[in-house]
Amino acid sequence: MTSALSISDLCKTYTNGHEALKGISLEVQTRDFFALLGPNGAGKSTIIGIISTLIGQSSGAVSVFGKNVATHVYETKLNFGVVPQEVNFSPFEKVADIVMTQAGYYGLPRSLASERTEKYLRKLGLWDKRDNRSRMLSGGMKRRLMIARALVHEPKLLILDEPTAGVDIELRRSMWDFLQEINQSGTTIILTTHYLEEAENLCRNIAIIDEGKIIENTSMKSLLGKLDSQTLVFDVRDELQSETFATIGLARSRFLDSHSFEVDIGKDENINDVFSHLEIKEVKVKGVRNKTNRLEQLFISRLKTPNNFPNTDKGETTLC
Ligand code: ADP
Repeated sequence: MTSALSISDLCKTYTNGHEALKGISLEVQTRDFFALLGPNGAGKSTIIGIISTLIGQSSGAVSVFGKNVATHVYETKLNFGVVPQEVNFSPFEKVADIVMTQAGYYGLPRSLASERTEKYLRKLGLWDKRDNRSRMLSGGMKRRLMIARALVHEPKLLILDEPTAGVDIELRRSMWDFLQEINQSGTTIILTTHYLEEAENLCRNIAIIDEGKIIENTSMKSLLGKLDSQTLVFDVRDELQSETFATIGLARSRFLDSHSFEVDIGKDENINDVFSHLEIKEVKVKGVRNKTNRLEQLFISRLKTPNNFPNTDKGETTLC
């Protein structure tokens, strides 16, 4: 099967001499849901810019569904849609007109353009806003409008550059459902995201970029399998003092506060053993959660610049 995206030894040096990409090679298979991750400045947007034919490469080759993007600009544009990081439509244009205009760029006949505009505005919950000027939309709605616009020509490959940045959790999850739906119906998706949880939940394969180089390119499953341990936080029903917690005798555990403690669970250990131990000690567990997103643990151990990875105050894990 032809790869949806094939990148071979891609280098990019900007005119100021900055070497943003230092020999990137990767393959994204058709129908994949692929994560492109890395801290700020890693080179993700440069790669997307080159695929989009907006940025010229210094050397190497990029092809989309077997067509070299530098020599087959028109076919490349037909085959893929991109949702950029920054909102880039006119604030004075009406919502439906923005999608219709895009359909026009791709040469869709007017009736098909109207049909698709309605289809994607409905799917993205924007149909009621179709006659509003885009500046009246909330931040989350603007992002969804960019997705509708990118899909109107029904590209086989959709690239999303941080589509859920700044979008609240509820809306983010509904966008995940939508992206999964279009992936299942055959669209290959490449996602760059600051939300590691997003990549872990959605993507089957992943490439991690740092300082213009690929430092990891594998399946999400095998990447997560490399973790030696994960830390679980246990919330308990009855109040606990640190002295009584010490008498429970849980290995690799730490008291957090009167209703919670954390335990490191090794790759080959079984969480049921912890539950059995707690049951014997009559500790009633109310809930268990991961202390950090598992991908974050990997990032922290792999990247040269681990300080880029604070947790937000909502307990979400981000890369920025
Ligand atoms: P990311 O999307 O991963 O945050 P970028 O691709 O935007 O990373 O940037 C990669 C590197 O290239 C950064 O160091 C950035 O400062 C630099 N860079 C990006 N665009 C330009 C440009 N037009 N001229 C010079 N350097 C640039």
